[in-house]
Amino acid sequence: MVNLENMKKWMTLFTEQLLENKAYLSELDTAIGDGDHGNNLARGATALKEALTVKEPDNVTDLLKLTGMTLVSKVGGASGPLYGSAFISMAKASQESEDLAVLLEAGLEGVQKRGKAMAGEKTMVDEWIPVIEAVKNKNLTTELIEKSVEKTIDMKATKGRASYLGDRSIGHIDPGAMSSSYLFKTMMEAGVY
Ligand code: ADP
Ligand code: MG
Ligand code: MG
Repeated sequence: MVNLENMKKWMTLFTEQLLENKAYLSELDTAIGDGDHGNNLARGATALKEALTVKEPDNVTDLLKLTGMTLVSKVGGASGPLYGSAFISMAKASQESEDLAVLLEAGLEGVQKRGKAMAGEKTMVDEWIPVIEAVKNKNLTTELIEKSVEKTIDMKATKGRASYLGDRSIGHIDPGAMSSSYLFKTMMEAGVY
């Protein structure tokens, strides 16, 4: 069950991971994109940390909404609106449910509604789908989170900037799948799962 305390902890840990791995995420994006994924998300993380202390949301819905709005307005690029949609959809779902799987499914729906990516297109969706499946089956592990990122290496990108490279996108990790792996690892660390 999600609650204000574990969700706050989750968002705090997530922002810390993004800031710590800023250079690495941008390095991944240099190989198959424009090299800004870490910088984009770090900008969002800094703004979110600030927003969480200033606004002090007092329920899960407001916390998720604030997270989504902050990411949309600060991250930019493709990933800003995508992560933003994920959190805003999760905020909406949290008005009806405290079940983590329900929230994550709504989040994925938000990402897919905006970005139209299906499984196997080498995007963050390839991280979200297996994780949600495992959350439902109650067998999520750190290994599964990491393995799912690795599976993007052999995929050919058919969405986003990396798709401009065609076959040359093969052989590299998708940066957005990696940043989503931080989202899900910190979800476990915070005890949300
Ligand atoms: P930009 O490509 O605009 O520079 P970022 O570098 O911040 O944006 O984000 C790139 C990441 O966004 C990719 O690695 C991929 O995971 C994700 N992404 C791009 N397009 C889509 C899409 N249509 N659906 C889902 N995720 C996407
Ligand atoms: Mg980029
Ligand atoms: Mg960019």
